[in-house]
Amino acid sequence: MSFMQTKYIFVTGGVCSGLGKGIASASIGAILKSCGYKVSIIKMDPYLNPDPGTMSPFQHGEVFVTDDGYEADLDLGHYERFIDIPLSRQANLTTGQIYQELMERERKGEFLGKTVQIVPHVTNKIRDFIKKAAKNTGADFLIIEIGGTVGDIEGEPYLEAARQFHHEAGDNNVMFVHLTLLPFLATSGELKTKPTQMSVKELERRGIHPDMILARSDYHIPRNLLDKIAMFCDVDEQAVIPAPTISSIYEVPLNFAKANVSEIIFKKFGMFEKKPNLRQWQNLVKKIKASNGRQVAIVKVGKYTAHGDAYISVDEALKAAGFANNTKVKVIAVDSEKLESNDKKEWQVLKKADGILVPGGFGKRGIEGKIMAAKYARENKVPYFGLCLGMQIMTIEFARNVLRLKKANSTEFDPKTPAPVIATMLEQRKNIAEKNYGGTMRLGNQRAKLAAGSLSFKAYGQRIISERHRHRYEFNNDYKDAMEKAGLRIAGVNPDRHLVEIVEVKDHPWMVGVQFHPEFKSRPLRPHPLFREFIRAEMLYYGQ
Ligand code: GLN
Repeated sequence: MSFMQTKYIFVTGGVCSGLGKGIASASIGAILKSCGYKVSIIKMDPYLNPDPGTMSPFQHGEVFVTDDGYEADLDLGHYERFIDIPLSRQANLTTGQIYQELMERERKGEFLGKTVQIVPHVTNKIRDFIKKAAKNTGADFLIIEIGGTVGDIEGEPYLEAARQFHHEAGDNNVMFVHLTLLPFLATSGELKTKPTQMSVKELERRGIHPDMILARSDYHIPRNLLDKIAMFCDVDEQAVIPAPTISSIYEVPLNFAKANVSEIIFKKFGMFEKKPNLRQWQNLVKKIKASNGRQVAIVKVGKYTAHGDAYISVDEALKAAGFANNTKVKVIAVDSEKLESNDKKEWQVLKKADGILVPGGFGKRGIEGKIMAAKYARENKVPYFGLCLGMQIMTIEFARNVLRLKKANSTEFDPKTPAPVIATMLEQRKNIAEKNYGGTMRLGNQRAKLAAGSLSFKAYGQRIISERHRHRYEFNNDYKDAMEKAGLRIAGVNPDRHLVEIVEVKDHPWMVGVQFHPEFKSRPLRPHPLFREFIRAEMLYYGQ
């Protein structure tokens, strides 16, 4: 228990979206944690969805899942990977949640006839959420990332709440960090600071003055430009931090530390300076940059290939497994619909893969292509890793081609299949019938008991594991005996509900399907055992 009063660091974004505010916030957290402080972090999302659970990864990127089964913005994934603390639903507030609660209370007459307004009701709710997070986590530093860009209509209540919070908690306890972009003009060969100046003015119009500016740029930023920003934005010269584009996101904490970000924070709060200890991150970055020539190519078979962040935790978990095995992992996206239509080029890419991964997903589109990829992996003994849907695909393929249940399927894709090897439990049937889709899947941490002698047990080195789930459909236990007899190993079962959590193909070097999402628990400095073994299997199999 720390006796320090929580210090609050708000992170806002200016100029445009997509600058990496999540990674910047997470990196500040990693640095402060490495100084020995207790750090926590929350994300404010100004959209009207209560949570991103029903949002398409096409549009919004991955839906991250916390231990307590909250379907969260992908920035929580960055936070967990960089700061290595488990987060919960208390780390994400959306405008949808605020309105939902206020409307429910209004209908119950709790406002006693008063008008319900953005100020004070919405802003108070935001402030309360922040205070509660500080209290419940007992954090020395609470970082609050405000989603979107300053000037967005929907972000206004958050900035107003932040301004009020500063007024209430005092300047000694609240700091504002603003992330902006310096665009490069090729014709004059210059980086421009005006958009940064303008976005700081926008912040100031809302009563917020930044204490630190993080200047993103695709190029090196000369000192005189940093000084110019300091001058025109009225910020300390040392507190304008260059944030150039770099090849690995895991270098960001090191770059920020080099620019003395923690010193500036301690100075702002009038605290003793503690030196960050980023040795582990330094070693990691050294590893990432070193090349021993080893590389494995993993094909990821999906349909959301359009959005770069649709499977971000999977990509990062694969990379982390590469770091642990001293090998580079090249992740190649293959479109399952193209496999389905026998696209020659797509098949060539698949056939060159050292390993095949089928990640999570929903809906019928592209399913047959994924089943074809699983069949290819099984028959050609290529290492295969199935995550959630990828486990269901592996089960369907095995039932169809080994058990000879030609029409085997999941009831998600064929509700009338005569061989429903993947099906729903009763509680989920009700949700589907009532179109009750938001937050009603099997979500969050669930335990599994591993079978002795299984590949999974070997990887984890323990009998009971706990992993994060997000699905409605399950392995149908009516087929368990027949599948086992045909050579499918049931490697993990939920001890309370007897649900199958892991399947493995016995006659195969490494074909593992898990009903959960191990990618959410992988950390760059602590890779997930199954990902680590998947990459290792490839190297062993290909004799590297
Ligand atoms: N669509 C499948 C289900 O609901 C798989 C979900 C997933 O991969 N996250 O069970």
